Amino acid sequence: MTGVMVVTGGSRGIGAAIARLAGRQGYAVCVNYRRHQDAAAEVVQSIEDSGGKALAVGADMAEEADVKRLFRIVDQDLGPLTALVNNAGIVSAKGRVDEMTAERINAIFALNVTGYFLCAREAVLRMSTKHGGSGGGIVNISSAAARLGGAGDYVDYAATKGAIDTLTVGLSREVAEEGIRVNGVRPGVIETDIHADTGQDLDERLEAFRTVIPMRRIGQPEEVAEAVLWLLSDSASYVTGTTLDVTGGR
Ligand code: NAP
Repeated sequence: MTGVMVVTGGSRGIGAAIARLAGRQGYAVCVNYRRHQDAAAEVVQSIEDSGGKALAVGADMAEEADVKRLFRIVDQDLGPLTALVNNAGIVSAKGRVDEMTAERINAIFALNVTGYFLCAREAVLRMSTKHGGSGGGIVNISSAAARLGGAGDYVDYAATKGAIDTLTVGLSREVAEEGIRVNGVRPGVIETDIHADTGQDLDERLEAFRTVIPMRRIGQPEEVAEAVLWLLSDSASYVTGTTLDVTGGR
């Protein structure tokens, strides 16, 4: 076994692709979901069908009690954690900053930022040699929006991802001597359901993006998963504190 991995938001999209690839590579995988239990069960089934071990855990990663409960289940049912992929994230409806309410801003920060911090804390408490662990890896899923700013679409979402890039740098330095590497991946536009949550027509939105991507195509969740699994592997043994763009050149 390669180790034990938690993938937050592992039921659909990028998280599901990461969980499936991790399962194929020999990780025992905790597939976290919030609403789509069936989708999480399908991911678990596909990992088990390929001879791997996986477990679906329903938990809201914006809620501290749920985060703690999920990690306790992993301790009991899968064994010592070696990898965390902070992936569960939401976008906001298309809108300008001068239209934003505190409620909207706080909701997105609660999951995309606080949730990542809480999961990172639970992972460090288990993996750090300072706390009696044997080391491990963390990958934070950011977004190219952190660099681009999301003007006119969702500056609040982009700002959550900027915060995550800083978390990656800061946390990597805190735990570098404790056996943990912390890196990030900044996907560009990837073909998942998330784009429908902006309230725009999905095909129109993806087509508009395609024309500004140097490779002239939308990325696939599997292409992000490959980068994540590489960062967690021994092949990346001297890589920490960096965030890798997987964007088709944008
Ligand atoms: P997605 O297809 O909408 O899937 C989101 C996943 O997160 C689902 O598994 C969902 O669970 C889970 N989730 C949502 N809220 C949750 C919560 N409160 N607690 C736990 N899980 C929750 O999204 P995606 O496109 O794969 O995005 C995954 C990550 O990549 C996000 O952080 C996103 O910001 C980032 N990203 C995506 C793109 C892109 O173009 N797709 C680009 C850059 C960055 P349920 O199935 O149970 O609802």
